[in-house]
Amino acid sequence: MPRHTTAHVTCRTCSHHCQLAAGQRGRCRARRNIAGKVVAEQYGRITSLALDPVEKKPLARFMPGSLVLSVGSYGCNLACPFCQNHEIAQAGARDVPWREIVPDELVRMADELHREDPRVAGIAYTYNEPLVGWEYVRDCAELAHEAGLVNVLVSNGVAEEHVIRTLAPLIDAANIDLKGFDAGDTSGANIYRDLGAGPHSYAAVQRAIELLAACPTCHLEVTTLIVPGMTDHDDTIDAAARWLAALDPAITYHLTRFFPRWRMATHDATPVQQVYHLADVARRHLAHVRCGNC
Ligand code: SF4
Repeated sequence: MPRHTTAHVTCRTCSHHCQLAAGQRGRCRARRNIAGKVVAEQYGRITSLALDPVEKKPLARFMPGSLVLSVGSYGCNLACPFCQNHEIAQAGARDVPWREIVPDELVRMADELHREDPRVAGIAYTYNEPLVGWEYVRDCAELAHEAGLVNVLVSNGVAEEHVIRTLAPLIDAANIDLKGFDAGDTSGANIYRDLGAGPHSYAAVQRAIELLAACPTCHLEVTTLIVPGMTDHDDTIDAAARWLAALDPAITYHLTRFFPRWRMATHDATPVQQVYHLADVARRHLAHVRCGNC
């Protein structure tokens, strides 16, 4: 980041706290200093739109059998080398095609789909990192609730507390990534550092999960990708599951099998038996543990 001067503005959306000169974009490529104010430049710029089963988000215990209009833009505040959506997550405005869909239009599309098929329950904010453009989520979610639709958030959870507190009452179900966890050491924090996150991002994710778990109107599920050599340790999953159970023993915890992707395209996929084993470890503390991609 450039040296801070009075011409710079600090973005307070996530724990990176990018200091942006006039016209400069943040690390996420989504936010920019325009006329002395940090704005979500990709507001309403949609790169991906699809009707997905809610189980694909993944949400295992929220309106099973329903469908959600899933929407994504570009940009992310992490740089996970195994990202499955790097084409849009690690992209900026000039790197990917997008079309503008304002909140009114998105909600109208979801509402029409719901009228055609009552299994369409609402909108999912997903694919890239939705919280780097949280104002779009807020504006769409408010309109969706007015239309009787539900809102689903799929996020890495790296956002400042004010963002989570603003969105929590509008979100009916969330799946938050927990990419690592300290098991009597600093391995969890180290993973977030290795993913290009700032020193406070690990705490930010934990705080986001705590706030959503405490929100009476939000159904929360959590996902950890089991990456060989990173998160495939009994101690890591045991500690994470114990922490989640202390927040809410009803939380559903997804352990997802890693497949070679992007900068880890030459690595081996996680052995299925290892994912099953770690799920048994998590079940020491949680009743609802699911294996993904197995
Ligand atoms: S959302 Fe995070 S990464 Fe993006 S500009 Fe703001 S502080 Fe930087």
